[in-house]
Amino acid sequence: MDDQELQHWVEQISLASFGRPFLHQARFNRRLRSTGGRYFTKSHDIEISPGQLDTFGPEEVEKIIKHELCHYHLHLLKRGFQHRDADFKTLLEQVGGSRFCRSLPHMAMKQQPYRYKLECVSCSTEYYRKRKVDVRKYACGKCRGKLKSVPLDLNPRS
Ligand SMILES: [Zn+2]
Ligand SMILES: [Zn+2]
Repeated sequence: MDDQELQHWVEQISLASFGRPFLHQARFNRRLRSTGGRYFTKSHDIEISPGQLDTFGPEEVEKIIKHELCHYHLHLLKRGFQHRDADFKTLLEQVGGSRFCRSLPHMAMKQQPYRYKLECVSCSTEYYRKRKVDVRKYACGKCRGKLKSVPLDLNPRS
């Protein structure tokens, strides 16, 4: 599926589920890794992560599009368009959009792997870091206890 097909799909869902036209741009964005979709308040455009389609299929992507269209229509209607707003929650439920912008754990891992793990020797709180940390310079954020470096399994179960 390309951007043009996505555009038609979003326009269709907009009319069918919201009874209002989608008059802006929808496109795929490969760099969207932590969320399935995104709504831009300035341009009113919608971006969808293409990885969602491969990983979760069209049904899930349709729910994400509905989620983004809730932001879109409520924003244009000058109503509560953010996640915490009652307007948003109500509309999302009505149209059956996904509750969250679902994340792609595998892709996120590939992009930014945590290579180091630190553990507090007092309270056992674990910290994950992408870069090597000098444990002598830092203390546990919870109890100020000493930290120790723990080797991290770089091939976690998938
Ligand atoms: Zn959202
Ligand atoms: Zn601690």
